[in-house]
Amino acid sequence: MKYVFVTGGVVSSLGKGILTSSLGALLRARGYRVTAIKIDPYVNVDAGTMRPYEHGEVFVTGDGAETDLDIGHYERFLDVDLSRGNNLTTGQVYLSVIQKERRGEYLSQTVQVIPHITDEIKERIRKVAREQEAEIAVVEVGGTVGDIESLPFLEAIRQFRFDEGEENTLYLHLTLVPYLETSEEFKTKPTQHSVATLRGVGIQPDMVVLRSVKPVPEEVRKKVALFTNVRPGHVFSSPNVEHLYEVPLLLEEQGLGRAVERALGLEAVFPNLTFWQEAVRVLKHPERTVRIAIAGKYVKMPDAYLSLLEALKHAGIKNRARVEVKWVDAEGLENGDLEEAFRDVSGILVPGGFGVRGIEGKIRAVQFARERKIPFLGICLGLQVAVIEFARNVAGLKGANSTEFDPYTPHPVIDLMPEQLEVEGLGGTMRLGDWPMRIQEGTLLHRLYGKGEVKERHRHRYEVNPAYVEALERAGLTVSGVTPGMAGRGAGLVEAIELRDHPFFLGLQSHPEFKSRPMRPSPPFVGFVEAALAHEASLR
Ligand code: GLN
Repeated sequence: MKYVFVTGGVVSSLGKGILTSSLGALLRARGYRVTAIKIDPYVNVDAGTMRPYEHGEVFVTGDGAETDLDIGHYERFLDVDLSRGNNLTTGQVYLSVIQKERRGEYLSQTVQVIPHITDEIKERIRKVAREQEAEIAVVEVGGTVGDIESLPFLEAIRQFRFDEGEENTLYLHLTLVPYLETSEEFKTKPTQHSVATLRGVGIQPDMVVLRSVKPVPEEVRKKVALFTNVRPGHVFSSPNVEHLYEVPLLLEEQGLGRAVERALGLEAVFPNLTFWQEAVRVLKHPERTVRIAIAGKYVKMPDAYLSLLEALKHAGIKNRARVEVKWVDAEGLENGDLEEAFRDVSGILVPGGFGVRGIEGKIRAVQFARERKIPFLGICLGLQVAVIEFARNVAGLKGANSTEFDPYTPHPVIDLMPEQLEVEGLGGTMRLGDWPMRIQEGTLLHRLYGKGEVKERHRHRYEVNPAYVEALERAGLTVSGVTPGMAGRGAGLVEAIELRDHPFFLGLQSHPEFKSRPMRPSPPFVGFVEAALAHEASLR
C-alpha cells in the first residue's frame, strides 16, 4: 500500500481538495485502484450539523455518511464510491479513543495524544485503504499547516514514513504564491515559511504545488525548490483555470503523474486522459448554451449546491452544451414577479433544503413551471413542494402543506412517517444514503434510467404522506417511482412524481446529483438539460 499526503499552507481554501482529486485522477488514469481520504481537524463528528452557508454542501455517501464536500470531488474525479471512513474528523478520533478508555482497553496506561490519538488516526487511515482494496491512498489534511488543531494529524502522517518506508509514502505541500500586479512579481516568501513550519513538525515535503493567479515561471519554481529543499523538478504550478477539469491535465503536462510514480517506485504507465481532454473541449467550446434557474435559499453560496451544479455540468457535457445557472432567491419569489424572474431561462430547478424560509416562493416557482410547461426538476424538497403545489392548485386540497412548515395544516401531504417518529427520540431521524427505487414502466423516469430499479442517495426526514397518494393520482399526478420492499419498512413510499401533459416535469425524493460523475452523468439531469435545450429551441 502506498500513501500520498497532501497538506496546505499560507491560506485556506486553496483548492487542496481539487489537487487531491486531480492527483487521484492521474493515478486512476494509469490504472491504479485509488482511494482518497479527507481529514477534517474540527471537533464535529461529521458535517451533518454544520451550516451550508459556512461549509458548503453536506455530501452524502452510499452508506449514509454526511461528509465534507471534498468527498464529492473525490468521487467525481476518481469515479469511485467512498464511505463513512473516507472523512476523518477530530471528533471521530477522540470519541473512539475516549470510548475505548471507558471500556478499559487502555487499562493501566495514561492515554495521550501521542501515541493513542495518533495511533487511532493511523489505524483509521489504514483500515479505509485496506477495506477499499486501494493500491494508493491519497490523504488530504484539511486546514492550514500551523493550525493547532491539525497537529495530531500531522504527527500521525509524519510517523507513516517511519512505519511504511520511504518508497511507500509521499508528502505533497500546496501553497499560495501571491502575484503583485504593481511590481509584476511572484512572491515566494510565504511558501518558504509554510514549508519551514511543516519541517518544524518533522515533515519535509517531497513536492510542492504552487497555487497562483497565473502560471509560475520556471525561475521562480527553481527558487522555491532551493529554499524549500525540494528537487527542482518537484515544484509544480497550479494557476487559476476556467474549469476544474483542466487541473489534472495541467498537472500531467508538467509531469506530476510521472514524478509521483517515480517517487513511489511504480512502473511508468501511460495515462489515459481522453475523457478529461474531451470534457474540457466541450466545456470550452460548447455547441449550445442553455440557462436554468435554481430557485433556492443559499443563492449567495453556490458551494451549498456543489453536487447539483456538477450534475448539471455533467449533463451539459453529455448534451455538448454549456449550462448556465441563474440563481433565483426563493424568498424573493413569494411576492415577486415570476414572469421577470424566469423570463430568460429554459428550465426551473428547485433543489433540496430544510426549513420554512422561501417555501411559498418555491411553490409559486413550481406552479409557474407547471402552467407554462417549462421543464422542471424538483430534488428532495423540490419534490415535496411540487406535491404541495399540485395538492393545493390541482387536487383542490386547500391549505395543503408539509408538517415541517405548518404542523396544523388541514392536509399534511408531506409528513413524518410513524417509523421516523419512533426513532426521533434516539436522534437518528433522517433517511440517509442509498435506497432503492422501483420505477413504473411507461413513465418519463423509466425512459430516463432505462431500467426498472435504481438506487439513489437520500437525505431527508419527511415523506409524501401515503394517505394522500390516491387523491393526488386521481387528480392526475403520476407516481413513477416508489421504495420497494417489505410492508411497513418504508415500502411504497413515493420516490418520484411526474406529470403526463407536460414536456418535462419530474420530482425526486432522492438526490441523484450525489451519484453523478463527469463520465457517467445522472439520467434525470441529462433528461432535464435535454428538455431545457428543446424548450429553448422552441422559443427561437
Ligand atoms: N426538509 C425536507 C425533509 O427533511 C427535505 C430535505 C432535503 O431536501 N434534503 O424531508
